Amino acid sequence: MQLNFRGLPALVTGAGKGIGRDTVKALHALGAKVVAVSRTDTDLVSLSKECPGIQTVCVDLGDWDATERALGNVGPVDLLVNNAAVAPLQPFLEVTKEVFDRTFNVNLRSLVQVSQIVARGMIHRGVPGSIVHVSSMVAYVTLPNLSVYSSTKGAISVFTRAMAAELGPYKIRVNSVNPTVVLTAMGQKVLTDPEIARKLKERHPLQKFAETEDVVNSILFLLSDRSASTSGSGILVDAGYLAS
Ligand code: NDP
Repeated sequence: MQLNFRGLPALVTGAGKGIGRDTVKALHALGAKVVAVSRTDTDLVSLSKECPGIQTVCVDLGDWDATERALGNVGPVDLLVNNAAVAPLQPFLEVTKEVFDRTFNVNLRSLVQVSQIVARGMIHRGVPGSIVHVSSMVAYVTLPNLSVYSSTKGAISVFTRAMAAELGPYKIRVNSVNPTVVLTAMGQKVLTDPEIARKLKERHPLQKFAETEDVVNSILFLLSDRSASTSGSGILVDAGYLAS
């Protein structure tokens, strides 16, 4: 599948590491004009060196006012990838207000805020657009100690459908990708016990976790015209886990 995003303005959140970083690299290689948004400046500096010409924005997306200042006038964006998230581990009975608020602010509230900024711009310019939320298979199934994180991903499923319904008349498509474990920094932090990791992997019909590239490919498909009639939907990148 040869995709071409030549000249299209794109914005990726959580671009410093992992899936977001590789999404920026793929979009840049396919000709998009990318705005990479993340929290750690050194990550953005090294990404800029790998992808000359990208624009970088360093901001904590959990901070509404800072995000408004940083992205309120970001300029045209036709392709948006809401990828930034945190995944703190807490047993349900030990969930704290701080972790609950922080996780919802970064994973969900910023997705709403950035989508509003971008979608308003698309509507104002009268151009079609595609928005992809990086969710998770835990929007549908539970894993231990991830109740708050999973709840943010469950809520993203609802926002995906609601946004698709309200933005569809403006030719803006909204979808999600829902991966299983990917061994990025986040995946390694969540799965520290090798025995639990082995057992979890074995429960996947394909006997593996997902690779970053698998997730990026699904994101690119949903951003592209190859999915022109797909909206309000989610692609599972779960090595068959939900079928097991
Ligand atoms: P990583 O932790 O490897 O990378 C996340 C990136 O998001 C980092 O660059 C991080 O910056 C940035 N980020 C986090 N919080 C903020 C913030 N408040 N403001 C701005 N940027 C922020 O995660 P992954 O690449 O693994 O995850 C990407 C997406 O994929 C997430 O939505 C995650 O939920 C989802 N996902 C991941 C899975 C996995 O197993 N890895 C499985 C299923 C879904 P910094 O490091 O500087 O904080």
